[in-house]
Amino acid sequence: MSSQDHTAHSVKSATVGADAKYTCPMHSQVRQAKPGACPLCGMGLEVESVAVGDEGPNPELVDFTRRFWVALVFSIPLLILTMSPFVGITAVRDFFGERMS
Ligand SMILES: [Zn+2]
Repeated sequence: MSSQDHTAHSVKSATVGADAKYTCPMHSQVRQAKPGACPLCGMGLEVESVAVGDEGPNPELVDFTRRFWVALVFSIPLLILTMSPFVGITAVRDFFGERMS
């Protein structure tokens, strides 16, 4: 019970007044003046009103694009290392000295 009270208090402290522009799609009571993550579920906050003009790049899209490229850089060597024998390329594993038995 006290943990619920604490959760409600932290939500209230994260809530900003009338100038709030960003809200959680799942929790309409969460309102913030700047983009970020929902304190309740962690989802990215979205603009409350429909943007008319160009407000620059979406910070969530920028963040996920960066994560995509970082993950891709680490995934390609792993893909080559694990899948190359199955397509007939043994040079990579031979380079590391693994025996195909
Ligand atoms: Zn939420």
